Amino acid sequence: MSWELRERIRRGPARLLASRPTRQTRASTLQRLGIHRHPADEGYRIRSTGRRVGARRAKRVFPRRSALSLTVLIDAHHPSVDASLHEYRSGRTEEILMKTFVHRGQITKVVFGSGTRSRIPQEADALGCRRVLILCTPGQVEQAAQMRDLLGAAAAGTFTEAAAHTPVDVTEKAVAYARTVGADSVLALGGGSTIGLGKAIAVRTGLRQLALPTTYAGSEMTPILGETEGRRKTTRRLPEVLLNTVVYDVDLTLTLPMATSVVSGINAMAHAVEALYAQDRDPVAFLMAGEALDSLIRSLPVVARRPDDVAARADALYGAWLAGTCLGTVGMALHHKVCHVLGGTFGLPHAETHAVVLPHVVAHNGPAAPEAMARIAQALPGDDAATGLFDFAGRLGAPRALRDLGMPESGIEQAAELVMRDGYWNPRPVDRIAVRALLTRAWAGEAPSVSPGNEDPQSDSVIEASTTTGARHA
Ligand code: NAD
Repeated sequence: MSWELRERIRRGPARLLASRPTRQTRASTLQRLGIHRHPADEGYRIRSTGRRVGARRAKRVFPRRSALSLTVLIDAHHPSVDASLHEYRSGRTEEILMKTFVHRGQITKVVFGSGTRSRIPQEADALGCRRVLILCTPGQVEQAAQMRDLLGAAAAGTFTEAAAHTPVDVTEKAVAYARTVGADSVLALGGGSTIGLGKAIAVRTGLRQLALPTTYAGSEMTPILGETEGRRKTTRRLPEVLLNTVVYDVDLTLTLPMATSVVSGINAMAHAVEALYAQDRDPVAFLMAGEALDSLIRSLPVVARRPDDVAARADALYGAWLAGTCLGTVGMALHHKVCHVLGGTFGLPHAETHAVVLPHVVAHNGPAAPEAMARIAQALPGDDAATGLFDFAGRLGAPRALRDLGMPESGIEQAAELVMRDGYWNPRPVDRIAVRALLTRAWAGEAPSVSPGNEDPQSDSVIEASTTTGARHA
C-alpha cells in the first residue's frame, strides 16, 4: 500500500454504511476507500457490525432508508496486504487497522560526509581502541598508508592482503598478524572484501571494528559474514560481526573506477529492491529502500559520466548506506540466492553478477509484489520495473550477460538445480523451469520477461512463497 493510499484511508471513512453487506457491496466499499487493486476477499475484509444506523445518516451514503454499519478490517497476515501498513487508528471511527511487524534497529554508529576520515582517530578513541590494525587490498595501500599516518601511535600495523570472497586462509594469516602486533581493533578501508575480512577477524578474536567503506556494496551495515574455504562459500548472520563504527567519507570513493562504481551501485540497488518485498519487511526498511533507489537512480548516471562529481558520489554513497542497512535489517530472496550460487559455483564477480541478474528476478517476482514494483516504478518510471532496471543498467554500460562474466552455458542447469536445492523465502513461488528460463535469458543478455513458472503447489520442485526462511546471502 502506498503512502498516498494510506493517507486516503486516514482521511476517509473506515466505517461505511451500506444497504446490505453483500459481496458486491464489499467491493464497492473497498473502492470508496481507494482500494482498487485487490479483490474484496484478498487481504481486506468488510465486517458487518450488525448495528442498524439511523435512516438520515444512511441516506447520506446510500439511498436506502436503513443500513448496516460496516467496518473495514485489514488482514495483517494476508500476503497481498502491504507490510508497511501497521497499527493505524482511523480518526473518524477509532477503528484500529493493525499491521504487526518487527523492526530491528542498528547499533552501528554512522558518520557521513566529506573529509570525515579525519575523524577516525577520535572515533577509535571513543571506542577505547589504542592499537588499530588497518586492513586493505593490495590496490588500496596508498589510502591505507594515509590512515596509518593519521592514526599515528594508535596504528598497530597494516594488513594489505584482503581478497575477494574472504578466503579463510587469508583470515587466519591476518588473525596471526593481529596477535603479533597486539591489535585491539580493526579498521577496514575498502569494499565488501576488506570489510568481510574485518568481520572474519572479529568473529575469531572479538576485536572491535571500524570501517571506511569505499564501494557501494553495503557489507559494513550488515551482520552477514560470507567466507570461502576451498571452493565452498558459506554465509552466516551473526550479530557479533556488526561493526561498531562506520565512517563514510565520500572523498575515498572518488578513485573507484567508473565501471566498478556502476555495478557496485546496482549491487546496492538489488539490496533495496529485495528489501521492498522481503518477507520480514517493515515500514522503516520500506522507506529506506525506496529512498536508496531514488538516490542511486539519480546519482549513478552522473557518476558514470563524471566519476569525480562529489555531489553525485555523495548521493550514491548515501543510497548505498541505506541499501546496506536494508540488507542488514531484512531477509533477502531469490535474487540474492541466484547471485550467491553463481558467485560460489562459477567464481563470477560479485557486483557484476548482481547487475546482470536483478532485472530478471524482478520480472519473475513482479506479479507477486505489486507494492514493491510500484515503488521501483516511482523511482524509475517506465513500462515496468524489470524493463526499467534492464534499460537503466544498459544505459550505464553495465554488463548484461552472464556469459560475458565467464559463466559457461552448460552451467545453467547446474545453477538452476543449486538455486532450487535449499529452501528460502520468495514472494513468488520458484520452480526449476522458471529459474532455468531466467538464467538462460540472463546468460544470453536478453531482455527480462515474466516466466510462466510452475506454481502448482503440489509440485515438489516448487519453493512456495509462504514457507522457509529468508535467504541471507550477501
Ligand atoms: P571489493 O571489495 O572486492 O572491491 C573490488 C576492487 O575494487 C578491489 O580490488 C578494491 O581494492 C577496489 N576498490 C575498492 N574501493 C576502491 C576505491 N575507492 N578506489 C579504487 N579501488 C577501489 O568489491 P565489493 O563489491 O565492494 O565487495 C564484494 C565482496 O563483498 C564479495 O565477496 C561479497 O560477497 C561481499 N559482500 C558482503 C556483504 C555482506 O553483507 N556480508 C554485502 C555485500 C558484499
